[in-house]
Amino acid sequence: MSRVQIKLPDGSQRDFPAGTTALDVARAIGERLARKAVAARVDGELVDIQTPLSKDCGLEIVTLESPEGLEVYRHSTAHLMAHAVKSLFGHEVQVTIGPAIENGFYYDFFSETHKFTPEEFQRIEDKMAELAAADLPILREEMTRDSAMRLFRDMGEAYKVELIQDLPNETVSLYRQGDFVDLCRGPHLPSTGFIKAFKLTSVAGAYWRGDEHKAMLQRIYATSFPDRKELKAYLHRLEEARKRDHRKLGRELDLFSFSEDAGAGLVIWHPKGALLRTVLEDFERREHLKRGYDIVMGPQLLRTDLWKTSGHYENYRENMYFTDVEEQSYGIKPMNCLAHMLIYKSQIRSYRDLPLRFFELGTVHRHEKSGVLHGLTRVRGFTQDDAHILCTPDQLDGEIKGVLQFVRDVMGIFGFEYELEISTRPEKSIGSDQDWERATNALMASLKDTGLPFEINEGDGAFYGPKIDVKLKDALDRRWQCATIQCDFTLPERFDLTFVGRDGEKHRPVMVHRVILGSIERFIGILIEHYAGNFPLWISPVQAVVLNVTDNQATYAEQVFNELRAAGVRVQKDLRNEKLGFKIREAQMEKIPYMLVVGDKEMEQGKVAPRHRSGKMLDPMTPAEFITFVQDECKQYH
Ligand SMILES: [Zn+2]
Ligand SMILES: [Zn+2]
Repeated sequence: MSRVQIKLPDGSQRDFPAGTTALDVARAIGERLARKAVAARVDGELVDIQTPLSKDCGLEIVTLESPEGLEVYRHSTAHLMAHAVKSLFGHEVQVTIGPAIENGFYYDFFSETHKFTPEEFQRIEDKMAELAAADLPILREEMTRDSAMRLFRDMGEAYKVELIQDLPNETVSLYRQGDFVDLCRGPHLPSTGFIKAFKLTSVAGAYWRGDEHKAMLQRIYATSFPDRKELKAYLHRLEEARKRDHRKLGRELDLFSFSEDAGAGLVIWHPKGALLRTVLEDFERREHLKRGYDIVMGPQLLRTDLWKTSGHYENYRENMYFTDVEEQSYGIKPMNCLAHMLIYKSQIRSYRDLPLRFFELGTVHRHEKSGVLHGLTRVRGFTQDDAHILCTPDQLDGEIKGVLQFVRDVMGIFGFEYELEISTRPEKSIGSDQDWERATNALMASLKDTGLPFEINEGDGAFYGPKIDVKLKDALDRRWQCATIQCDFTLPERFDLTFVGRDGEKHRPVMVHRVILGSIERFIGILIEHYAGNFPLWISPVQAVVLNVTDNQATYAEQVFNELRAAGVRVQKDLRNEKLGFKIREAQMEKIPYMLVVGDKEMEQGKVAPRHRSGKMLDPMTPAEFITFVQDECKQYH
């Protein structure tokens, strides 16, 4: 019998009889490894763990602990779900595709007669459990395209037939488990019994092949984990995310709304939301002024010709809105850069004037497809805390460091940890080698300076310059892109920006686009979910509410309210003739940090009894003392 040489990842070589499976090799290495093995890499290619090894090769055993092992596991669970759905609904439902995705998988089904609802998830899960318990072997088969097409046509699976038609290969692979067969490249788990813990999570519409002109499918989202404990922990996080959903809390806390009459993706800020936003914007203005930025403001519309000069018309037109006024075409700004360029150009600049840092809370409009709009985090109109730094090439280093320090300060204030990424020169790019080198080195050096680990996305920069992205981590350990720092070699060229150098000659300034929070709308969405609506005192749109115990203290409570409001405390009052407990519960629902209770005793002493939303009571204090308390607490953020 012939033998094959198997090279393992540690560099060792072992020989086995030809036809030995990857699983056999795993067993020969150790029973523990074999138990966890779900797939294998043979000469780099991901294959089933039962694949016979017919020639010398490099072999790596893929276990559930690796991301790709988990992907095989989840994709196999997708087959299990499709199998269960077909068992329950038969010809009523046609199968399409079911990939693994982040945190789980989905499967898209087509049905003219059946509409899936969450109420029947349990029934599908029960069927899946039954099929998993049966421990059906999952078998790979290969056949010609024609026979595969015939097979799926006979089963009435038109979508599978269409998929096969588009495949370039003459042979296709199928995976069979019990009476269920699916077109698939694989790899898959050896049997359904490997699948231990799964849960269907939601159902949504999705177009066949993502094309809005094609059939509407029903996408069932689900997840699976190697064991029940992990699944439970994940579902808990999901539940927590649902509770914190900023769209839900935005409504409950009366912060903002959307209206189909106004247009999709356009935020309408209610009084409390607008106040929250104002507090953040005031904070931003102060922080920028402190760091040597100038506040500027540009118009919402700029002539289309100017968008042609900048290159936006050529490269970004589809995302812009245009309008005609007196036969002149205007574009509504999708970015704030242009007016800032014009300010720079409004006078001759000398090296002594640089750096210039133009800051604008700039509202922009971008056309996003209606399908991707999502609460405050994906909208069509939003305000950026945008700035453009124009500096000499040798100032670039210091400027980037300054921005990263700014990011660090602000993230610290909100209590966010964050991750950094740098994207370097792509294949197609403009700007000289020297420009790129200088800018990339400046970004790199500043990143190293932070002492934080960072990732390098080689070749992932924009064609006009390298950039740093900052991703913050929220309370649920989710990542959100916020700050970006982007070097730009095109706009100074296109707008012919110059400064007079020490040598009396004209030079090109370097330009940096940067945002710290990014979109204010999106950042507020993140804050709502991060804090679960329990905003810290300094940004809470309502910081305190005055509650009287009985009508007897109504006049006094009114006085307290007026005094606090006049001192700048964001306060409201609830003087309704209701039980105190009821009023406290309502204030609690509104997540107001402090409830100021006034009964007869407080009135006689000229005090209030503050109760924190956590239930903690503070010692009674005079309204003036409470004002100082609030001011002291907020001062740390000024
Ligand atoms: Zn598959
Ligand atoms: Zn810009």
